[in-house]
Amino acid sequence: MIYADIIVDISHEKLDRSFQYRVPKELEAEIQLGMVVTIPFGNGNHERKGYVTGLSDKPAFDISKMKELHGICSSEETTEERLIALAAWMKNRYGSTMVQALKTVLPVREKVKAKEKRYIVLNMDAAAAEQLAAELESGRCKARARLVRALLKEKKLDYTKASRELGMTASVIRPLVDQGAVLVTQDEVYRMPVDGSDIPREQLSMLTETQEAALLQIQEEWKQETPRPVLIHGVTGSGKTQIYMKLIQQTVNEGKQVIVLIPEIALTYQTVRRFYGWFGDKVSVLNSRLSQGERYDQFKRAKRGEIQIMVGPRSALFTPFSRLGLIIIDEEHEQTYKSENSPRYHARETAEYRAQMENARLVMGSATPSLEAYTKAKDGEYRLVKLEARYEDRPLPEVTVVDLREELKNGNRSILSRSLKTAVERRLERGEQSVLFLNRRGYAGFVSCRSCGEALKCPHCDVALTEHNNGKLVCHYCGYEQPRVEKCPMCGSPYIGGFKAGTQQIEQVLRKTFPKARVLRMDYDTTRTKGSYEKILSSFAEHKADILVGTQMIVKGHDFPDVTLVGAIAADLSLNAADYRCAERTFQLLTQAVGRSGRGRKAGEAIIQSYHPDHYSIQAAAKQDYEAFYQEEMAYRMLMDYPPAAHMLSVLASGEDEKLLEQGMDYLAKFVERISGKYRVHVIGPAYASVGKVNDIYRKVLYLKHKDERVLQDIKNKTEKYIEVNSGFRKLYIQFDYT
Ligand code: ADP
Ligand code: ZN
Ligand code: ZN
Repeated sequence: MIYADIIVDISHEKLDRSFQYRVPKELEAEIQLGMVVTIPFGNGNHERKGYVTGLSDKPAFDISKMKELHGICSSEETTEERLIALAAWMKNRYGSTMVQALKTVLPVREKVKAKEKRYIVLNMDAAAAEQLAAELESGRCKARARLVRALLKEKKLDYTKASRELGMTASVIRPLVDQGAVLVTQDEVYRMPVDGSDIPREQLSMLTETQEAALLQIQEEWKQETPRPVLIHGVTGSGKTQIYMKLIQQTVNEGKQVIVLIPEIALTYQTVRRFYGWFGDKVSVLNSRLSQGERYDQFKRAKRGEIQIMVGPRSALFTPFSRLGLIIIDEEHEQTYKSENSPRYHARETAEYRAQMENARLVMGSATPSLEAYTKAKDGEYRLVKLEARYEDRPLPEVTVVDLREELKNGNRSILSRSLKTAVERRLERGEQSVLFLNRRGYAGFVSCRSCGEALKCPHCDVALTEHNNGKLVCHYCGYEQPRVEKCPMCGSPYIGGFKAGTQQIEQVLRKTFPKARVLRMDYDTTRTKGSYEKILSSFAEHKADILVGTQMIVKGHDFPDVTLVGAIAADLSLNAADYRCAERTFQLLTQAVGRSGRGRKAGEAIIQSYHPDHYSIQAAAKQDYEAFYQEEMAYRMLMDYPPAAHMLSVLASGEDEKLLEQGMDYLAKFVERISGKYRVHVIGPAYASVGKVNDIYRKVLYLKHKDERVLQDIKNKTEKYIEVNSGFRKLYIQFDYT
């Protein structure tokens, strides 16, 4: 026997409320999560539609009292049904509950009332109104006469405004309404994130020959019977955005709709303005600062077909368009496309699935594609389109890599190397701008040697060890531990330790070194208040400062034409993150950063300071040589069986009771070993997660590696069941994650 949990009303606040039904024998093989079914409902047993959110072989209550569902509807007809099917796919793929998946995918339809605006309009022709006004005036109904005259001039008046400005009360308006002279109407007004109405419209630029050629390749792919997703690999400043715009325009002209994903950090006022300029009121924009109501309104407009283009971060992927024609993912490599919450979906994979389901096209672009996407492009799963030159053949900046070990040898202990100091001085003399950044991303207390540059690494996993409060050095993949060292095991130097400087200290050093320079700082601390992020960016863009110093957030997707110098203070910070992808992140960040320099007419320069100047990720970034980086990095992934050479599933468990967590994880590890034996799955850990304890909640993680994704999927499903039926896991929170 199979029992199905079914929700009848698919509104957000009722998602947790499901009813269990028996599945008829003949439907057992067919029924699946997310399907639309018909059920007898309520006392009258009226037939209603419901959605399957859970399937089980155990009844939740007395079977004799349980109703049987009627049948399965041919599903995926409406937008909502397709989104529910998408949620079911996400649940299976990433491991979460169906309710969590539904909450991710469906617009929030809860107690947010649409705002309404009332208007007064004339309900008679002009001549009749003239006559009425004259009558009212002679009859000393001055206020009413004033209203009619105002309406003769403007046709439609805002109710609130009219009552205020014309000094009108309801008792003035009501008689006019009663006699049918005027009408009070209500328009729904949407809560708008940005008012785009006063932004002047712009023509799309003409494409250059190279861009045109790339566009043709994409259109050619679209003519195929089953078009593949397209990956545009274009150097920074090659005009990928121009190509997206043409594709959007073409799709909208075909009567279809478009979702454009952009990393949150690049969703600045400038970006939004450009979209409104090109597409006017066909566009809407989402961002995480919108209230639930504003978000819901934008989804509603999309559903009604009032807009054709939705621009936003990851979650914009679930815009309920009914005629979706195209999904664009800009800066495809960005980490923010991966959700941190359950279901931990990746926007690229999910977009691929949605596009396939709705017969829509998918176009991704980046100057530094993720290894996953580029591998798929190489394997022919994606169509690869290249843009190898910058717009107008503007030269790429000249890049110098500074060896910080040499600086130390020469007695310079400052965080500014001599070359970087001179370079900044030169900008100040010429009135040009500099951007200096510290890439602390993923920074987790590694220990490295300032003389030879080496970081202490795990002998098994080849990632940096992390220093813990207890003084031990720990690997976050396999749990390997070793005591702290006083001297570098490689060269014997005593200059070994963590990197301490932060953006604030760098700002101080800059102010001291260049007392006349105007310095702006942008990091987590200075951007916490609303609008501060935009304010710093625009004041730097208006050249109100000479130097912008900050974290990696300052080098993402901004276009400052007067910047001719970009400096990476310590490229190694991200290189030593305790993560197998740290070289990829470093390469991407440095390449993007270098690409920020010299975007205007003046040629640019970039300086990368590093203790590892020969590392391939730094060398390749300096030369903007993606291919060279890809080859080296893939060799490492293959050697170590890291994705995309293999697949990796992590099982993350957290709980308040450390003992219980340890026990639970050991059981899980044993269970996984047992069921995965015949597949020869590589099981690593359990180890403490990279952040082992947050707010007194302990976290441990187990990694599974295998070449075949389906094997991991199977193990995940079995593990989910195992956790469900064993009460020992009740007090632990367990999440799955594919990387
Ligand atoms: P990417 O997204 O590849 O980094 P952009 O699309 O932002 O590049 O283009 C870089 C710069 O070159 C922008 O300032 C853009 O306005 C300009 N540009 C690129 N292509 C054209 C074109 N065909 N016509 C006019 N300006 C262009
Ligand atoms: Zn050393
Ligand atoms: Zn290890």
